[in-house]
Amino acid sequence: MKSFELYDATTVEEAVGLLDQHGPTSKVVAGGTDLVTGIMKDWVQGPGMPYPDVLIDLTTISEINRIAVEDGALRIGAATPLADIAESAEVQAGWPVLSSAAHSVASPLIRNFGTLGGNLNQRPRCWFLRGEHFPCYKKGGDFCFAVTGNNRMHAIIGGELCYIVHPSDTAVALLALGAATTIAGPAGRREVAFDEYFVGPREDVLRENILQHNEVMVDVKVPQPAAGARMAWIKLKDRQVYDFALTSVAVVASVENGVWQDGRIVLGGVAPTPWRATMVEQALAGKDVQSAVRSASALIRNEARPLSLNAYKVDIAIGLTERAVLQAMAA
Ligand SMILES: Cc1cc2nc3c(=O)[nH]c(=O)nc-3n(C[C@H](O)[C@H](O)[C@H](O)COP(=O)(O)OP(=O)(O)OC[C@H]3O[C@@H](n4cnc5c(N)ncnc54)[C@H](O)[C@@H]3O)c2cc1C
Ligand code: SF4
Repeated sequence: MKSFELYDATTVEEAVGLLDQHGPTSKVVAGGTDLVTGIMKDWVQGPGMPYPDVLIDLTTISEINRIAVEDGALRIGAATPLADIAESAEVQAGWPVLSSAAHSVASPLIRNFGTLGGNLNQRPRCWFLRGEHFPCYKKGGDFCFAVTGNNRMHAIIGGELCYIVHPSDTAVALLALGAATTIAGPAGRREVAFDEYFVGPREDVLRENILQHNEVMVDVKVPQPAAGARMAWIKLKDRQVYDFALTSVAVVASVENGVWQDGRIVLGGVAPTPWRATMVEQALAGKDVQSAVRSASALIRNEARPLSLNAYKVDIAIGLTERAVLQAMAA
């Protein structure tokens, strides 16, 4: 690993100023479990992915390490460790789909260091991206090695040029909860719904979200769920020890007398962004969930465009969606 300068920011505004001052080769760092021990250790770089030479530590900013319930909504600072979110009694009681998703990330050690902001803004895990010798589109090159190479773990939906799957577990739960994030930049702060946050390769193959180089994620706001809302989280992994999701599903729904009123179903591990299964939601609307869920979940097949080695994921996505909806009903 090359040497780098490290700054301990004490306010969000100071971090934004340092990013602005040092330009595109500066980056914020929180737990460092992806940036330092992954991207930088493995020399992941290219014309579209410059190697960082200045790091700005966010864990020294107390404002963004907290969990609070304000007017019924949950607010979590971006530098809050995942372990604190998984273990928070308030999150477990009011937003169990989020505490379960946070708990399912990696290992206890990584959850102790890894933060919410780092989890949401981590770079993808495609093995060609992480390999030093593959100058693919996402690094600013002119080829996607997943098209002809081993694409077993790649996207079945929404790929184009690049077939990454979004790696963050908490992103899936937060999209299902209709959450939003506060972003700080040189012009001040703004709130962006996660519906608008993630960016797929069709929009810009070099990025996974709208965050500009000189912006920092400050916190995440999760609205109070509707009274009696049902929630479920399921994550399927290749290995029973810690691993990224082969496929995950988060469900947040309002159901009355077994009939689906409203809700969100979001899948991870299938697309370059956390993917909302709106066709399944629409097929369930106003229906008896027990009898409609199988045919509604099967609609995912119409959206899927698997690569040579990952058609198995289509069946997993359908089966897991059905199971997660039924699990939410029983919650
Ligand atoms: C072995 C292993 C297994 C893992 N398994 C999983 C898993 O199962 N599920 C999963 O979701 N993740 C997994 N991860 C990925 C990840 O490391 C963790 O999820 C962790 O939460 C990342 O947080 P961090 O604070 O360490 O991020 P860092 O490494 O500090 O940062 C990651 C990226 O986010 C940016 N960033 C950090 N904070 C902010 C902010 N506030 N504003 C703007 N940008 C920011 C950084 O610039 C960097 O680009 C795994 C990682 C490892 C090493
Ligand atoms: S899937 Fe994306 S990150 Fe992976 S090789 Fe193709 S372009 Fe690169």
